[in-house]
Amino acid sequence: MKELKYQFSKREVTYYLDAEFSYLENLVDKSNTVLILDENVAGFYKEKLEDWKTIVIPPGEAYKQQSTVDAIILQLIKIGADRKTFLVGVGGGVITDMTGYVASVYMRGVQFAFVPTTLLSMVDASIGGKNGVDVGIYKNLVGTINQPQFILFDYSLLQTLPEAEWINGCAEMIKHGCIKDAGLFQLLEENNLSSIQSNTSLFASIIERNVTIKSDVVKNDEFENGERRLLNFGHTLAHAIENSYQLPHGQAVSIGMVTAATISEEINNFNSVDKERLIKVLEQYHLTTHFSFDKAKAFETLVMDKKRAGNAMNYVLLKRIGEAEVKSIPLVQLKDLVLQII
Ligand code: ADP
Ligand code: ZN
Repeated sequence: MKELKYQFSKREVTYYLDAEFSYLENLVDKSNTVLILDENVAGFYKEKLEDWKTIVIPPGEAYKQQSTVDAIILQLIKIGADRKTFLVGVGGGVITDMTGYVASVYMRGVQFAFVPTTLLSMVDASIGGKNGVDVGIYKNLVGTINQPQFILFDYSLLQTLPEAEWINGCAEMIKHGCIKDAGLFQLLEENNLSSIQSNTSLFASIIERNVTIKSDVVKNDEFENGERRLLNFGHTLAHAIENSYQLPHGQAVSIGMVTAATISEEINNFNSVDKERLIKVLEQYHLTTHFSFDKAKAFETLVMDKKRAGNAMNYVLLKRIGEAEVKSIPLVQLKDLVLQII
């Protein structure tokens, strides 16, 4: 196990990397801790959860809604949870987002922590303190920024993770390489999904690198006024097509990254050889790089994005592999780019 500490504006967060789930007993008082999980994770890990108090909710993004938060709160009342109760979200991004949110508002705030169980939540969603719920179709419309006390990473929990969920996590790792770390990008190029799954020490080092990238970016800009926006690379278009075509998040982000690379090539001197490298590495991790969609409709949805500022859109573009920047693209120009070039 390896311990890392990150000092954020209001709290120091400890990461227990390469740890075991059972270590949780040393970190919290079991008798006054409640684990929040979804049915899938609760089902797979019944034995590990035996002596813990749990609240189990149905799986999936569709349940990341205020009504589920209300149901969790009612259960907490039933269990007799008080201000000293510690909540631990054990699951993917849906669970960690809702646990952080419930913990931030229950009795005006209780202590909380995460045990991420998806690759995506290990490298992305559990880090950075953003929490909350969707409101109908609007993703993450309500929530807070509040850091957990700690995050415990047990890589063995990924053994039950379906392949499609592994692939979702890979998209975010490739994103990190693109925006911040050419060395990580190269390491991912030299490997593929099965090689990172089977080589445990390589896997541990890749996770640590991703955790560090995301944490550094968030630490520098916790409330997203600048650098944190780079983490949206590939996500502007992704959000515009993800729901309409029911794409897994990673697949939508992959298509979004290829699009952003094409726009970067067009207006930011991004090298076409590097764009080909991006496409190739995405394919190595079973991510979609060519997808036909209704571009006019996607553009319409895209202009509704939170990143729009008046008549322009803040778009994350690449300068080179490992270096990104936010560029303001006038909507008229962006429309041409979306309709004609990508
Ligand atoms: P994320 O937001 O991290 O992509 P979700 O919370 O939506 O993830 O979880 C994705 C799916 O994977 C859900 O169906 C969830 O129940 C399932 N899942 C999460 N962790 C595991 C695991 N370790 N093993 C098997 N299935 C898991
Ligand atoms: Zn994402």
